[in-house]
Amino acid sequence: MNPEGAPTETDPYPGSRAGRDAWILARRGGISRTIGLDPRRPSHWLRESEPDPDGGQAEILTVFLTNRECPWRCLMCDLWRHTLEESVPVGAIPEQVRIALDEDRLHPAGPPRWLKLYNAGSFFDAGAIPREDLPAIARQARAFERLVVECHPGLVRDATVLPFRESLGSGTTLELALGLETAHPGVLERLNKGVDPEGFRRAAEWTRRHGLGLRVFVLVRPPFLDEAESLEWACRSIGFAFDCGAQTVSLIPTRAGNGALEWLAARNQFAPPRPETLEAALAHGLGLRRGRVFADTWDLDRLEPDPVRRQSLRQRLEHANRTQQVASG
Ligand code: SF4
Repeated sequence: MNPEGAPTETDPYPGSRAGRDAWILARRGGISRTIGLDPRRPSHWLRESEPDPDGGQAEILTVFLTNRECPWRCLMCDLWRHTLEESVPVGAIPEQVRIALDEDRLHPAGPPRWLKLYNAGSFFDAGAIPREDLPAIARQARAFERLVVECHPGLVRDATVLPFRESLGSGTTLELALGLETAHPGVLERLNKGVDPEGFRRAAEWTRRHGLGLRVFVLVRPPFLDEAESLEWACRSIGFAFDCGAQTVSLIPTRAGNGALEWLAARNQFAPPRPETLEAALAHGLGLRRGRVFADTWDLDRLEPDPVRRQSLRQRLEHANRTQQVASG
C-alpha cells in the first residue's frame, strides 16, 4: 500500500487480521453503497418456500432489514453495500418489520408460516439491531412457527440470545443461520471471518444444545481454491456442517462485487464456481440425507451468462431445492 493508503498493484494479501481488515477496506474504493436506504423501511422483502423438517413446504416471508454495516470484514462479503454507516434509531427495526408484515398481508399464497429477518450481518449485533427493540421484534415474530436470523459464530453466546428465544414463546422456533463459509482451515483464516473450524463447531454445538435451529451457509468456490478443490471442499464443508448439528445447509456460489474479489480474480486467485460445480455440490449434499440442502439461486446471472442455459439451471436448482431430489435426466 502506498503512503496515502490507496492500494497498489503489488500489495500482497496480508497475513494478519488487522492487515487484512485494512487491505479489504482499501479495495472498496469506487464501489458505492445503495443510495437512499431509509432506516425506517426494510431494504426489501419477498416470499419463498422451502421444505420443512416434517416433509411439507413452508411458506416464508423474508425481510431484508436496513441497518448498520456488520463490524466484521470478510474477504468475500459485499453485503455492506446494502447497509448504513450509522446505527438505526431505537424503534426503527420493529417499524421495518411492521411495514413488511402489513404490505404482505394480502399475498395470494396466504399467511406465511416462517419469518426470516436477514440484516446483512448479525441479528444479535447490538450496533445493528438495538437491544431495546428485541422484545417488540419477538412480539411480531410470535405469529410464526419459525424465526430465522443470521448470526456470526462469535455472537451465538451473546447474553441476549436465550432471553430473546424465551420471549418468542414456545410456539416459535428460533433458528440461527451461521456462516461456516468453508471447513478448509487455511482458506477460512484468509477469508478473515474471525473464526476457525473448531470455533465454529463450538458455536454450532452450543446452538443445538440450547434447542435452537441451525442453518449453515457454505461458500462454493471461495478464493484461493481451483475448481476441483472447490468442489471437494464444498462437499467436505457440508459434511462438517452436519457433523456440527446443522439441520439445513445453504450453498452460496461466491460472487465478486466488493473490490477485493475482483483484485484476486485479476491475479487468478478467485473465480466464481462453474454452474456444474454448484450442482455437483448440491447433489452430494442431498445424497447424504443428513438434512436439508439448498443452493442459493438469487444471483444466477453472475454464474451463467447464457439466458437459456441459466433458465434451465434455475429450473434444476429450484426443483432440487423444493423436492430435495436431484432431477433425473
Ligand atoms: S460476518 Fe457475514 S455480514 Fe459480516 S462481513 Fe462476514 S460475511 Fe459479511
